Amino acid sequence: MEELRIGVVGTGAIGRKHVRRITERLKGGKVVAVSDANLAGAQAVAAEYGAELFEDGGALIASPGVDAVIVTAWDPAHKEYVMDAVRAGKYVFCEKPLATTAADCREIVEAEQAGGKRLVQVGFMRRYDEGYRRMKEAVDGGFIGAPLMVHCAHRNASMDPEYEDDYMITQCCIHEIDLVKWLIDDEYESVRVLLPRSTKFTGRRLHDPQIAQIRTKKGVCIDVEIFVNCQFGYDIQCQVVGECGAVNLPDPSYLPYRKGAVRGAALCTNWEDRFVEAYNVELQEWIDATRAGRVDGPNAWDGYVAAVTADAMIRAREAGEGMPVDLPERPAFYR
Ligand code: NAP
Repeated sequence: MEELRIGVVGTGAIGRKHVRRITERLKGGKVVAVSDANLAGAQAVAAEYGAELFEDGGALIASPGVDAVIVTAWDPAHKEYVMDAVRAGKYVFCEKPLATTAADCREIVEAEQAGGKRLVQVGFMRRYDEGYRRMKEAVDGGFIGAPLMVHCAHRNASMDPEYEDDYMITQCCIHEIDLVKWLIDDEYESVRVLLPRSTKFTGRRLHDPQIAQIRTKKGVCIDVEIFVNCQFGYDIQCQVVGECGAVNLPDPSYLPYRKGAVRGAALCTNWEDRFVEAYNVELQEWIDATRAGRVDGPNAWDGYVAAVTADAMIRAREAGEGMPVDLPERPAFYR
């Protein structure tokens, strides 16, 4: 295939960033069409990048001038556009979440299987971070023996006071939910959520921090600290402890300094800077795989697993007890 002609549905914050990175940084793809409920926003992006403006996302997806689709609209619109793309037989990259309910994710999985071809990739960009990839190589290569435990932390400096309890799972922990099962090549069995003493810096609708615990089918125990008003920076940590060693996620490198009788190094303050390279690699590999007629990244089944696991965590937190992660066997189609 010549250059991949990409249509982007959703030109809000991350949609615009993806359009820019495809245009200015990546190779093999061109944004030829854009659409958004906010027509003025889409119009501005269309004018800046010379793309065709579509008032309707469905019409963009159906257009013969569009080879593949990126869905970066708000969460509740994901399902409709992904289904449109699957029905049209077009490759689609959907920012996480795949859909807002597990039932909707399941519908996508079933529609894709009925079509007989994998088309959907979900935007779990952590799998493309250099540090996590190095950890996975070490784990897969047996460097630490069989994994036994995984310790993670997902910390933001501060969050909007209206941020809600469920977002701790569906917007934050969802990344670890996808990442860790990929990292240690395992499936989830059960979850529980602990609520430590809450910080005084939290909003009224949010218990912060929370600790999610997951047990895998092979018996690995995973803990994820989710703390979104930690005050000190955007701090993502991960350690896999195995039978004969442990590997840690490297911190991004910032210039170490000595000043005012202090030896220090800055911390990252936002997710965009922390994972900018991961987004670049993710979309470059998506373009390359799509041109080659493959889906190599997190697929619709991974999106479904994330939704089912997140639902179980929310139920576990509400009930104050452990909950099973009820999933059928991964179909051969997604292996
Ligand atoms: P955003 O700035 O609010 O942009 C979302 C855009 O979607 C807005 O322009 C909105 O228009 C538009 N929209 C709403 N309903 C639509 C519809 N039915 N059809 C087409 N467009 C519609 O949000 P964002 O931060 O860019 O996030 C977009 C998506 O990316 C979300 O699903 C988010 O979860 C995901 N995301 C993923 C990551 C990651 O780490 N992988 C990071 C950030 C965001 P209005 O403003 O008029 O409503």
